[in-house]
Amino acid sequence: MLLRPLSAALLLLATLGISRPVSAAEPAARQRLAIVKADDVKGVNGKWDRFITLSQERDIVVSLGIITESLATQDPKYVAWIKKWADSGKVEFWNHGWDHKSWTDAAGKKLSEFGGSGLEHQKDHLLKAQAAFKTATGSPYTIFGSPYNAMDGDTARALNEIPELKLIYCYPGSVVNAQLKGKVLLPMSLRGEHDGTSKPNFPKFKEDYQKKDGPALNLAAIQFHPLGFSEEGFKHYTDILDFLKAEGWTFILPTKYLELQAQATPAAKP
Ligand SMILES: [Zn+2]
Repeated sequence: MLLRPLSAALLLLATLGISRPVSAAEPAARQRLAIVKADDVKGVNGKWDRFITLSQERDIVVSLGIITESLATQDPKYVAWIKKWADSGKVEFWNHGWDHKSWTDAAGKKLSEFGGSGLEHQKDHLLKAQAAFKTATGSPYTIFGSPYNAMDGDTARALNEIPELKLIYCYPGSVVNAQLKGKVLLPMSLRGEHDGTSKPNFPKFKEDYQKKDGPALNLAAIQFHPLGFSEEGFKHYTDILDFLKAEGWTFILPTKYLELQAQATPAAKP
């Protein structure tokens, strides 16, 4: 990819050891986009409402991944809760697989829902999840993020056969990314939980951020597991949000990013 003039200039300054200008002084052209990726919805729980509300108080939209087996019975209260938030336009739900299982096979190999389980298994689980979410809300999911972020060649093949899944959460630089066709990637360029699952740590986040910060860091999906947050966890989470806002990041929903990508692609223009 060609560097835009601004990025090139910033890179030159960085190479010369001159610190780049602070965010506020930079032209608006340098848009930095963040996406909150929160995993493991499996029912109505006050922690989800708390998570959404704390985000909304900061004008921040969030994307929540559903372990879709939880929709197998279509519990009306749960379905109403999902629809309420989806209709608010502030929350987007995504396909976090069907059962989130992991296991060890007879040879002692570790497998998971989308890690070594085979093409048929993976496609079946993706499609079951698509169907259950569509029954609940009237529309299929457009975003996928795998349990444990495990993806293999079969995951890419299965996803390539499901055009309605357009956006994929991934690790930056994963070999599977290149096997995905016609998908828009949402790279987890910044880590959300530095002390383990459900344990964000703001000082560690900030330190890590400052190491990674640079002209190339313009898009980051950031992963959290709010269901396991303690009071302290919520505080670290909101400190991270406040910090990124002050750094000039704009929080968007995944489908908004899809729109921006389509606008930026010359082929999409008349
Ligand atoms: Zn998960």
